[in-house]
Amino acid sequence: MAWNFETEPEFQEKLDWMSDFVRLEVEPLDLVFRGPADPFDPARPGPAAAMAPLKKIVKQRGLWACHLDAHLGGQGFGQVKLGLMNEILGRSRFGPTVFGCQAPDTGNMEILARFGTPEQKQRYLDPLLAGEIASCYSMTEPQAGADPAQFTCRAELIGDEWVINGEKWFASHADFARFLLVVVVTDPSVPIHQGASILIVDRDSPGLEIVRNCAVGMVSEIGVGVHGYLRFDNCRVPKSHILGKPGQGFEVAQSRLGGGRIHHAMRTVGLLNKALDMMCERSLSRNTKGESLSQKQLTQEKIADSYTQITQFRLHVLYAAWLIDKHRAYTREVRREIAAVKAAMPGVLRDVVYRALHLHGSLGMTNETPLMAMWATVPEMGIVDGPTEVHKISVAKEVLRDRKGCDTLFPDYYLPDAIEASKKKLNWALELEVGNH
Ligand SMILES: Cc1cc2nc3c(=O)[nH]c(=O)nc-3n(C[C@H](O)[C@H](O)[C@H](O)COP(=O)(O)OP(=O)(O)OC[C@H]3O[C@@H](n4cnc5c(N)ncnc54)[C@H](O)[C@@H]3O)c2cc1C
Repeated sequence: MAWNFETEPEFQEKLDWMSDFVRLEVEPLDLVFRGPADPFDPARPGPAAAMAPLKKIVKQRGLWACHLDAHLGGQGFGQVKLGLMNEILGRSRFGPTVFGCQAPDTGNMEILARFGTPEQKQRYLDPLLAGEIASCYSMTEPQAGADPAQFTCRAELIGDEWVINGEKWFASHADFARFLLVVVVTDPSVPIHQGASILIVDRDSPGLEIVRNCAVGMVSEIGVGVHGYLRFDNCRVPKSHILGKPGQGFEVAQSRLGGGRIHHAMRTVGLLNKALDMMCERSLSRNTKGESLSQKQLTQEKIADSYTQITQFRLHVLYAAWLIDKHRAYTREVRREIAAVKAAMPGVLRDVVYRALHLHGSLGMTNETPLMAMWATVPEMGIVDGPTEVHKISVAKEVLRDRKGCDTLFPDYYLPDAIEASKKKLNWALELEVGNH
C-alpha cells in the first residue's frame, strides 16, 4: 500500500499504555513541582525522587530514549513512532524527562553518539543516556542568534588546551548541566560555516561564569529561569574536548538542530490537543442565553477550525518524520519539510490556544488553568531553534530551487498564447470537430 495512516496494533498498545501512564503517574508531577528547572535539574531532590521509579518503569517497558536509533543507544523506533509518542508526552512538562527524551539532551546525545570519541562517549554520553545528568547546548550569542556570521565567541588552541573567550546567550539548562556543548569560532579567517567548532566544556571549568539566568514568560523576578547568559574568560578545556574535527561545528550541529525542531513540533501536537480538549469540555459545560456554548455556531466554528488546523499540522509533522525515516539523513527534502513545520507551528498554536483561552472567558485569563502557560509558548515556538522568518526563507528557497522563470513577455500560462500552442498540437482533433458541425 502506497499510503497508510494506521498505527500497528502492537505499537498502539504501547501508546495506549503511555497515555494512561502519563495521565495517571506523570501529569501529577506537573501540578506539584512547578519550578522552571524542576523537570530538568537532576539535583532537585523532590522531582528527582518522584521521577526515579517512573523512569525505571519506562526503561523496563523498553520506551526509554526513543529518539535514538538502536546503534546510537536508543530503541530504534524511528521518527514516526517517536512522533506518536511525543504527542502524548507533549501534554506534560515532565513527560519527556521521564521518557529520557527531553531537549536539549536529546540533540546532545545524538551528536555525541555520532561524533564523539570512545572516551567522550564514556564520560558524557553514557550518564546522559542513563538520565543521571543534564546537559546544555550553547550557540546563540547576545549580539547574534539567527545570523551565525556575527558569532564572536572564540577558542584558540594554546599548547594542549583550547582557551575560550566571549559570551553566549540563552543557553538552556547551563546552570545545572554537567557539561555544555559550546559552538565557538576556531578559525576567524574563513566563513563561519567552515570556521566554527563544538567544544565540550565541563560546567565547573574555571573561567566559565553564568552572568545571569533568564526566564521566559511573565515571571516578575529578574535572574531566575533556566536560560543562561554566559561569559567565558580564558576558560580552558583540554585539546581532546573537541566534538568532531576543527571547523566541523556546523556540520555536527545540523543533525541536532533538525531533530530538535521536529521534536518540538511533535510535542506541540500534544499541547494543541490538550487545548482542544479543554475547549470542548468548557463549551459542553457552560450555558449562556438558554443553551450550552457548544450549541452556538460561532463556538462550533472555533472547534471545527481548531480540529482542522491541528489535523493538518499533525499530518505534516508525521510526514516530515516519515521522510526522516525514509532517507535516514537530513537531506534537502527532509530539511524543507522540517522548516515548513517549524514555521507553521507558532501560527497554529496562536490560533488554537487563543480560541481556547477566549472560550474560557475570565477563567482563561487567570493562572488557574494551564491556558496562560500555553499562551507563552506561542512566541517561544516562533523563536526557539531559529525565527519563523529564517525557516520560511529556507522553505521558499527549496520550493524555488528547481523552478525557472520564463524569458517571454507574457508567462507560460498566458491563455491567448497557451491556447494557440495547444490548438497547433491538437489541430487534427479540432478538424474532426469542424467536420461534424
Ligand atoms: C525558550 C528558548 C530556548 C532557547 N534555548 C537555546 C539554547 O539552549 N541554546 C542556544 O544556543 N540558543 C537557545 N535559544 C536561542 C534561540 O536559538 C535564538 O533566540 C534564535 O536563534 C533567534 O536569535 P535571537 O534571539 O538573537 O533573535 P534575532 O536573530 O535577533 O532575531 C530577532 C527577529 O529578527 C527577525 N529576523 C532575524 N533574522 C531574519 C531574517 N533573516 N529575515 C527576516 N527577519 C529576520 C525576526 O523577526 C526575528 O524574530 C533559545 C531561545 C528560546 C526562546
